[in-house]
Amino acid sequence: MAIREIVEFPDPRLRTKAQPVTVFDADLKRLVADMFETMYEAPGIGLAATQIDVHRQLLVLDVSEEKNAPLVVINPRIVQSEGKQVYQEGCLSVPGIFADVERAERIRVEAQDVDGKPVTIEADGLLAVCIQHEMDHLLGKLFVDYLSPLKRELVRKKLAKQRRNAEPAAVGV
Ligand code: ZN
Repeated sequence: MAIREIVEFPDPRLRTKAQPVTVFDADLKRLVADMFETMYEAPGIGLAATQIDVHRQLLVLDVSEEKNAPLVVINPRIVQSEGKQVYQEGCLSVPGIFADVERAERIRVEAQDVDGKPVTIEADGLLAVCIQHEMDHLLGKLFVDYLSPLKRELVRKKLAKQRRNAEPAAVGV
């Protein structure tokens, strides 16, 4: 396993639309292992392949306190969504920035596991937020896109300043 470099906003590679995963082989399992290692080390609760510059429809998540509930989500589609919730989100690609985003409260997702087997995931609360946030990455979308242009510009400036001062990254997804 290896820790991959996480691409950070406003890097244009984060705007790439991911393609479906079509081959479920040992290379895919290695990629998934690297993504979990990178996510846990960051530390984060979710990571989309887009964030490590791999443009495939692949997410890893673990929203458990004990970090013992790894979830791999491949080629996800939201087939049902209900309700609304607002959660203060962060992102490993936008370190140190947190902002309220409104998303669906409950979602049903059809996806595939690492062997290509179809899976249905019923999620609510934080897991639902996290899946929707990571699925946005696959479309080249970031949580800061939900902010006003003025706020987004402030985020960009804050990140540029952080990089100059080399502050450590905060927890994100
Ligand atoms: Zn993110």
